[in-house]
Amino acid sequence: MKTLIIETANPKIVGELVTVSRLFCATPDIVVLGSDDISGSYGTAYRVADTLGANIGAALSELISKEGYELILLSTTAIGTGIAGPLAVRLGAPILSEVTGVGDDLTIERSLYGSKAVANYKLEAGPLVLTIKRKYFEAAVLEGAVATTDLPVGPQRITLLEEIEEERQGVPLEDAEVIVTGGRGIGAAENFALLRDMAGLLNGAVGASRGAVDEGWMPPGAQIGQTGKIVAPSVYFAVGVSGASQHLAGISNAKCVVAINKDNDANVFKRARFGIVGDYKKAVPALINALKENA
Ligand SMILES: Cc1cc2nc3c(=O)[nH]c(=O)nc-3n(C[C@H](O)[C@H](O)[C@H](O)COP(=O)(O)OP(=O)(O)OC[C@H]3O[C@@H](n4cnc5c(N)ncnc54)[C@H](O)[C@@H]3O)c2cc1C
Repeated sequence: MKTLIIETANPKIVGELVTVSRLFCATPDIVVLGSDDISGSYGTAYRVADTLGANIGAALSELISKEGYELILLSTTAIGTGIAGPLAVRLGAPILSEVTGVGDDLTIERSLYGSKAVANYKLEAGPLVLTIKRKYFEAAVLEGAVATTDLPVGPQRITLLEEIEEERQGVPLEDAEVIVTGGRGIGAAENFALLRDMAGLLNGAVGASRGAVDEGWMPPGAQIGQTGKIVAPSVYFAVGVSGASQHLAGISNAKCVVAINKDNDANVFKRARFGIVGDYKKAVPALINALKENA
């Protein structure tokens, strides 16, 4: 099945897409967005300097129609989702978003309703646009230099004026094996220092619920959930987080959830493997002491 990957030169994201593509074809083609170099093994590699769907959509759909690609793979990043929908419309092709599983019999699994449900599909004929949910597929190792051919695009319709990189301390949330997330129950911005201490001992990252972000205690880049980051750590501590469905949508792939909440009935306990019912101001220092003793 002729397959095209469309992504920036991020090796982890492209690696995940290559893993999926191998279920459909031996060697996918790729459109590399932006100016960075990518490694790997592709049939043909095209280069488009722009990343905005409004500017490159026409050129992409022309390429896909001309070359007869049956499967178009993007990721659930802001860039990928920004391109995928309008591209499917241009192609008159169906789109399946947030794909979490693919079988070699062309069955496709995707999550629905903020990861509350799963739907299964069978691909009968292309073209089909898929956005692949991050962290659900092992990233293939990309080796070997790639020579790209420039794909001409039409006149620019939108200009990106500025990109402001979010401030980051320590391990990025998306890559962290341990995340300590604080919610509105943390009570104040300065109380996050306790969570940073705990995360530091575990070489982890600190996240936030939207409740905490809305209070202005943590930056929007730290938000985890449906409208925040999707994470998949080995251990996820939810501290003073109620466990709203929109928050849990961001941690559906976390291996072990530990909840600390003073409300016995908090929804977060339904998702947790371990729970501590009580005030985090007592529980977290106790955990920190235990970690230090066992260090
Ligand atoms: C379209 C949409 C998208 C959304 N996207 C997101 C998203 O991406 N991420 C997200 O997180 N939310 C999202 N939300 C918001 C979500 O519905 C909740 O409002 C939010 O997650 C609540 O945050 P919280 O759990 O921190 O706060 P609260 O609901 O206020 O819960 C605070 C919790 O802290 C506990 N607590 C209080 N004091 C203590 C203490 N001393 N010790 C221990 N526990 C304590 C309380 O018992 C309570 O359970 C979205 C909502 C909508 C409508």
